[in-house]
Amino acid sequence: MTIQELFAKMEAYAQENHVPIINEQGRKVFIDLITEINPQQVLEIGTAIGYSALLTCTYSTNEVNITSLELDPNRIVTAREFIAESPFADNIKIIPGDAAENLLKLPQEPQYDMVFIDAAKGQYPDYFTKVLPLLKPHGVIIADNVLFRGYVLGEEAPPKRYKTIVKRLKQYIEMVNDSGKYSTTIYENGDGLAVTRLLE
Ligand code: SAM
Repeated sequence: MTIQELFAKMEAYAQENHVPIINEQGRKVFIDLITEINPQQVLEIGTAIGYSALLTCTYSTNEVNITSLELDPNRIVTAREFIAESPFADNIKIIPGDAAENLLKLPQEPQYDMVFIDAAKGQYPDYFTKVLPLLKPHGVIIADNVLFRGYVLGEEAPPKRYKTIVKRLKQYIEMVNDSGKYSTTIYENGDGLAVTRLLE
């Protein structure tokens, strides 16, 4: 099976089983970013079935090592099965459990060129604080879903059940814009991707 056939199989699986992998518009921007950044050491928060991890390995021209954090044990099993069908089985390590806890168990030193934040939306500010010390100089943080269905920067009030998520994502956008130490671009494609680059 070619890698593109594997991606098509994963997309079909995600659709049938309601797994929220990066959506089609977000995917295009994500692939462009990977091609530009060419990361080697990557931290991913939110593996799901391994789709974005495999995109990262496929579109970086460097050999990539990904540490990916995932809470859901069933998704971890599925991710490992899909990854085993790819040429990148040795490049992706999944750490099971709550990302907020596991981030603190990683070696607390600058080690990643790129971090992809794509797990619990209400925890993005906490993830941001925890990944900053793990980024190498000029490292990049990509965060998916930061515009969350248009509620984050839009005028319309979110339904009650989304209020905390929207509040935290607003906080996240303030945090990534609130320093001379990094610069952030928000792409509106998909559900909104925030790309934050360390200036030093
Ligand atoms: N990055 C994946 C992709 O595009 O292929 C999609 C990730 S999906 C949007 C978010 C994932 O984060 C889900 O699989 C979910 O189980 C996981 N997740 C949610 N809360 C989490 C937590 N507290 N710790 C670790 N993973 C979590």
